[in-house]
Amino acid sequence: MARIVGAIGTSHTPTIGFALDNDKQLDPVWAPIFAAYAPIRAWLAEKRPDVFVVIYNDHVTSFFFDHYSAFALGVGESYEVADEGGGARRLPPVQGHAALAGHIAHSLMADEFDLSLFQGKPLDHGCLSPLSMLKGDAASWPAAVIPLAVGVLQFPIPTARRCYRLGQALRRAIESYPEDLSVVVVGTGGLSHQVHGERAGFNNPAWDEEFLDRIEKDPESLTHITHAEYARLGGFEGAEVIMWLIMRGALSAEVVRRHRSYYLPSMTGIATVVWDNEAQAPDAADVARQQAHIAEQLAGAGDIPGTYPFTVAQSVRTFRLNRYLQQMTDPAHRRKFLEDPEGSFEDHALSTEERALLRARDWRGLIHYGAIFFGLEKLAAVLGIPNLAVYAAMRGETLAQFQKSRNAPGALYSVAGDRVDEKSWDK
Ligand code: FE
Repeated sequence: MARIVGAIGTSHTPTIGFALDNDKQLDPVWAPIFAAYAPIRAWLAEKRPDVFVVIYNDHVTSFFFDHYSAFALGVGESYEVADEGGGARRLPPVQGHAALAGHIAHSLMADEFDLSLFQGKPLDHGCLSPLSMLKGDAASWPAAVIPLAVGVLQFPIPTARRCYRLGQALRRAIESYPEDLSVVVVGTGGLSHQVHGERAGFNNPAWDEEFLDRIEKDPESLTHITHAEYARLGGFEGAEVIMWLIMRGALSAEVVRRHRSYYLPSMTGIATVVWDNEAQAPDAADVARQQAHIAEQLAGAGDIPGTYPFTVAQSVRTFRLNRYLQQMTDPAHRRKFLEDPEGSFEDHALSTEERALLRARDWRGLIHYGAIFFGLEKLAAVLGIPNLAVYAAMRGETLAQFQKSRNAPGALYSVAGDRVDEKSWDK
């Protein structure tokens, strides 16, 4: 079974990554930041976790207000380092843990935390600024990373209480994962700071110390504080500390503190804490109950003939192909596909099997492989084929045979727009 061995709380200000990238170890202004992370690296060397679940917020880098989510879980196999305006930091790509992330997604949804799921998006300083300090000058990251992004920038945002309860659900999710994995939960953000308006530069070190005391000894008391009150106490952007409550909710009531530091060099109170998780391993019956709860909604769906539930595991496995199909919404992409299909496949690094399925217009094979139907209907529109021809092919029938089974056999349609030349079937 997977186990949460402990947790790290850390600020995620870009200052941390800046100090590292610019070799400020010996500069007295920056040295305390390095000193704060050295004990955490030592603790990690002792615990040797397999996976970090990192709770952070993106800063309009990979997530924007065209589609903004309260909770977005990274389910991908790897993540690029984000370019936040001046080129990406020189860090290796981050390995994900798609299998555990997929399990967490199913478990949290079963517990009625309706997440959004992401893959193929780079991670910004909210996640990687502190993680890069934990990596230090090692060639690779200390553990695989499951990012959990919290939308704290555009109100309404989740309440502190909701964050704490999500942490409790996260614990049930991790502890019901069957593989023996050692997991560290990393909560990021804060502490006090404000970076906008006339109050920019606001700090409250006394509140920061109180927050660090209370999140350790009495986290429940922090769940009743409103966003406005957090903003008043710790600065408007400092209210992102509610993300620490997700991390804290995943731990035992009593924790053992292994490290704590606080340093306020400029704009943001930089805090770090490390706790050992004191929770007993859940008993086998509890684990079995949660696993059954997770499986309940889709139980039996796989036995329905000719039916293939599109799960997150399938989505991760076929992400490249489905993105290729989804991009048929782009005129340049579909033109390239029509004029130079082999070049287009190559540009998108499709696998041999994926290319063969597309060349053969093997609609049934594409579904069996894991394509989402709504990508196939876009491909059909580009090819000038009505949806019913795709349905017929998936059934192993001719279009005429399938049409006979419809109440209105002559009804043909497609998602193609007004490009009449590609709708010759619509007489
Ligand atoms: Fe932030």
